[in-house]
Amino acid sequence: MQSLLDKIYKEVIPMLGRGKVADYIPALASVESQQFGIAICDNDGNISTVGDAHVPFSIQSISKVFNLVLAINHYGEDLWHRVSCEPSGLPFNSLVQLEYENGVPRNPFINAGALVISDMNQSRFASPHLAMRDFVRRLSENDEIIANRNVADSEFEYRARNAASAYLMKAFGNFENEVEEVLHSYFYNCALEMSCVDLAKAGSFLANRGYSKGAEEQILTPSQTSQVNALLATSGMYNEAGNFAFQVGLPGKSGVGGGIIAVVPGRFSICVFSPALNPMGNSLMGMAALTSLTKHINWSVY
Ligand code: GLN
Repeated sequence: MQSLLDKIYKEVIPMLGRGKVADYIPALASVESQQFGIAICDNDGNISTVGDAHVPFSIQSISKVFNLVLAINHYGEDLWHRVSCEPSGLPFNSLVQLEYENGVPRNPFINAGALVISDMNQSRFASPHLAMRDFVRRLSENDEIIANRNVADSEFEYRARNAASAYLMKAFGNFENEVEEVLHSYFYNCALEMSCVDLAKAGSFLANRGYSKGAEEQILTPSQTSQVNALLATSGMYNEAGNFAFQVGLPGKSGVGGGIIAVVPGRFSICVFSPALNPMGNSLMGMAALTSLTKHINWSVY
């Protein structure tokens, strides 16, 4: 694994400097763009790393995966009455489909979908953001994981678009709690800071039929795990999901903080981090690194 990571790192590092960090909130715009790290966690729990793999960064939309898993644990199949499982083909924060489709978001990984999931978790947990924080701490075996208040507050200040989609869903009867309260939980989740090592460990149950070696817990059943991986493969990269399937061929989830987690079912989970994004909002180096990975291991879920 280590020599594979070293090879990928060497291959991709010349691209450092391309792309643009997310600037839709000031707290993210100030992140140092010249960072690049990768961590792999295999199904025996071995970790391999290269570059800035231990640097905590804003997990942003990668939180949607863990948020969804928490909701699946509580709601099971009922969850799919409130959110669909189709790719959207549109940017992560688009509002247009939501009106046509009566306030039922296309999937849990676009913002509207993640907001409905957050609404469900809000109804279930006394303190949804602490439930989420403790969940990722358990999965990563790292009790120091915390959310960055600055980022969460900054997102809340610039919440108009997310608030608009939540209110639209409320108008359609697909939102139970106070919008502003749910937004606070959602932004807190996005503002959690984790390293590539934390995220590779946290996502490892997805490669291991739902079992987390770190937490020593069955997180999802094997069939729920397959379903989450299918959703990640079809919708985890927003409107670049098709290209990701074509180039990389793995279930994956990106965040505007520059992280991407991907899963090689039955073998390992991987997290790549580099803050500069391509025009679709996915880490430019992260895409390149994962493309190189699947080329080297000569493997794809397809
Ligand atoms: N917190 C971000 C938002 O709601 C998450 C977006 C992302 O990572 N794609 O806009």
